[in-house]
Amino acid sequence: MITTSIQPLEAPSPAYICPLDQACSYLEAAARELKLDQGLLQVLSHPRKVVTVSIPVKRDNGEIEILAGHRVQHCDVLGPYKGGIRYHPAVTLREVSALAMLMTWKCALLGIPYGGAKGGIALDPKRYSVSELERLTRRYTSELIKDIGPSVDIPAPDMGTSAREMAWMMDTYSVNVGHAVPGVVTGKPLSIGGSLGREMATGRGVMIIVREALADQGKSLADMRVVIQGFGNVGSAAALLMHEAGAKVIAVSTGSGGVYSETGLDIPALKAYAAENRRSVVGFPQAIPINNAELLTLPCDVLIPAALENQITEENVNQVQAKIVAEAANGPVTLIANQSLEARGVTVLPDILANAGGVVVSYLEWVQGLSYLFWDEERVNRELEHLMVQAYRQVINHSKTRQIPLRLAAYTLGVGRVAQALTDRGLYP
Ligand code: GLU
Repeated sequence: MITTSIQPLEAPSPAYICPLDQACSYLEAAARELKLDQGLLQVLSHPRKVVTVSIPVKRDNGEIEILAGHRVQHCDVLGPYKGGIRYHPAVTLREVSALAMLMTWKCALLGIPYGGAKGGIALDPKRYSVSELERLTRRYTSELIKDIGPSVDIPAPDMGTSAREMAWMMDTYSVNVGHAVPGVVTGKPLSIGGSLGREMATGRGVMIIVREALADQGKSLADMRVVIQGFGNVGSAAALLMHEAGAKVIAVSTGSGGVYSETGLDIPALKAYAAENRRSVVGFPQAIPINNAELLTLPCDVLIPAALENQITEENVNQVQAKIVAEAANGPVTLIANQSLEARGVTVLPDILANAGGVVVSYLEWVQGLSYLFWDEERVNRELEHLMVQAYRQVINHSKTRQIPLRLAAYTLGVGRVAQALTDRGLYP
């Protein structure tokens, strides 16, 4: 039978919670709060451009496999499209579309002049050799060559990709246009125009937002009991920075399982352990094994889901004991679970604010590249701190003035700014 790389639009299972439906519900709530014109809402609900390409990749054994690669460009009213490239088996066009929409609100909320986009390929990177990953990344980039560019659409790392993939993308783009174009991607290696501080940026942003939320409650990070789901780029950086600030990170997990320590994990040692054990924390000495389901319901002050979407759901939300939930991942708390947490008075720090540190330093990287002037890490971190704290304060103030939850406040600010720009620019023709 002939198979096609294009995935069906239907949900994979009846229990599946579609991230795009959720993103649209949040948009609708913000539109109601803003009393947005229905026509404007229609424009903002639809991505401007959706690209799906077939990626033929030659495996090391000589066989050819066809993968589906997506890039969704949601809205570029405020500036070039911006957003990561995800390599994960659960990638679908609907997921990528939802994540592209979140990027639009995130950039607008942080006050950085970008529109939202996202890309992805449904694959498990662990099942591919480095040379296979390089071939498929280059082919994907080449298929998108007319749709990306430093003033058009600027990819960055996301789940399953890193500076390595960005270097391949930058090189493929540059070779095709005939000269080096560092600004076509962010999150690059330092050797080709990457920024100091970019790798830790998303985790640092999470730490800043949690720190500010605690300060508003008269607390500090010191001695806070923190649980983190996910120990990839974001989770491990947030864990390290919180550990350094005196918090007790009592549990962390990866897809293969987690570890728990009542007295707090030694995060630098855990990072070193994960680096040697194919990024898994399972088997880390002086810690108790724990699974992902148990981890989410541990008694703690701060819970940081830093892995996939739909982790805190209707099923487990009543068991969540944290007083603050910081969405380091995109969409880890479902709509229903979010309502339940808000009703119980749990502080939910929404993704478009809590995990915005990555795209903020992407922006700083892009600005440094365009101005041919590179900053030291201290300056990058200072600018990140400023933009994160500013956005946090705006969300808090808006939430207080309007008497609305933080997520709705964040969405209202982000969506409102894009809607204003769209109104001012007007519709063409
Ligand atoms: N993938 C990250 C995010 O979801 C960063 C995107 C970027 O830097 O463009 O925010």
